[in-house]
Amino acid sequence: MFDLIIRNGLIIDGTGRKAYTSDIGINGEFITTIGNLNNTQAKNEINAEGLSIAPGFIDAHAHSDGILLYDPQHANGIRQGITTEILGQDGLSYAPLSEKNYKIQRHYLNGILGSPPENLNMKTVKNFKANYHKKIAINTAYPIPHSALRLETVGFTDRPLIGKDLEQAKKMVIEGMEQGSIGLATGMSYHPNAWSTTEELIELCKVVAQYNGVYITHLRDVNPERAFGNGGIPEALEIGRKSGVKVHFSHTRTDASTAGKIEKVITLIDQSKNEVDSTLDIYPYPTGSTFLTSLLPSFVHEGGPSAILDNIQNPSIIKKIIEYYQTYPLKAPLDSTTISYAPKTPQFEKFGLVDIQKKLKLSIWETLCHLLIKNDLEVGFWLNPPSNMALWDQINKDALQLLSRPDYMVGSDAIPLGSIPHPRAYGTFPRFLGRLRRKYNILNIEQMIQRMTQNPAQRFGLNKRGSLLVDNYADLVIFNQEHIIDTATYDDPKQFPLGIPYVVINGEIAVNNEICTGSLSGHAIP
Ligand SMILES: [Zn+2]
Repeated sequence: MFDLIIRNGLIIDGTGRKAYTSDIGINGEFITTIGNLNNTQAKNEINAEGLSIAPGFIDAHAHSDGILLYDPQHANGIRQGITTEILGQDGLSYAPLSEKNYKIQRHYLNGILGSPPENLNMKTVKNFKANYHKKIAINTAYPIPHSALRLETVGFTDRPLIGKDLEQAKKMVIEGMEQGSIGLATGMSYHPNAWSTTEELIELCKVVAQYNGVYITHLRDVNPERAFGNGGIPEALEIGRKSGVKVHFSHTRTDASTAGKIEKVITLIDQSKNEVDSTLDIYPYPTGSTFLTSLLPSFVHEGGPSAILDNIQNPSIIKKIIEYYQTYPLKAPLDSTTISYAPKTPQFEKFGLVDIQKKLKLSIWETLCHLLIKNDLEVGFWLNPPSNMALWDQINKDALQLLSRPDYMVGSDAIPLGSIPHPRAYGTFPRFLGRLRRKYNILNIEQMIQRMTQNPAQRFGLNKRGSLLVDNYADLVIFNQEHIIDTATYDDPKQFPLGIPYVVINGEIAVNNEICTGSLSGHAIP
């Protein structure tokens, strides 16, 4: 007698080996049998005839840390077949933080992580995990966010961690790793992370390496002068070389300037393979998304969110911002952005900054500051997709070419906020697995599933997950190989994919016939 039997599915087990047809028997949270269960009964059954069964997808890069705390069902994730998300990305999250710093951080990050309850205990990694464990639909894993180490030591100030501060930050890393963190994450175009030096990260990563953790990095493009090799890939590789830490590169893909030239994004990493153990992740879209506050220059962030709000109400500071960007042009072109999330001025969601500017009759930087002030900083945006479809097509092909490498995995970079979030929050996995796989035929399905499951599980030390094997946790997704497809688009992003009828998380059915069941069985791993 089993709790759940899934019958006659085509099993794509996550290891990359050829798919085969069988039954899966589940008891409690675990897969207990894979084989013919014809004469065996179960309390619950799923007929998977004509369908494929894969391990639940592991999202290597998701910004759901806040949203999960007030939307535990997480339909945009589980309807894609995601059963585990790696949080803490770009080094932007909530623990370990004192009560006071949690409130500051919650305010600062509201444009990317939303506004979770204000009174949560985020003092340690252990406390953080307890806020999620068996209280939300999906499993989560957590690298220590670089920003928390800085807030707890030097606060929101432009100083490197040295001496006593560095020692305290290292102690926090030790404590976090001992409480089950998977490593350290940073995003070096975000503050306060961008106030660090390469040396600081090398020292922190030496501790991470002792625990066999991973250094997860969104590369530096702010304050490059204080970085080894001017930031970017050279800095991340130097951190790997000098500390011995495993390095994971977030969202590494081609864009309008590198389309068709994947060597431009990958050559340096390949050349260092004998010195640095590296992996990467990618999402299948041509442009990105983030929070509007992050576009402000470094000096505006000093003092944290309340100081930012004071700064951007000061006309002389706005003047300084404009002058700053005349000297150091912004990478994100402000005239091709769309506001995705602005809960206190919803009339501006779906509009470009340029459209809003015309309405308000302000300059573009005044418009940006106006939106931030009116929304108490809680504003998100994405960059408009290319108008050149040939370019978009090339970026799609590049994404598959990159994903065909054995060191790649999938990270949605999802920010499921507002009326018009970036479509990656709803479509990443089915877009790769359905639309792009069938259209370009660059990876076979077994390879693609391996990148979405076993690869991240091994990399981030998620034991007993990421492959369909007896004794592993019963995290699985049942889908139709021919019909699975994303339906979320830039202009209509809050659309669930098709062709994914069932998702099981820790043995419980989380999606049943394309309907979320309300099951909240997610573990904070480990
Ligand atoms: Zn991100």
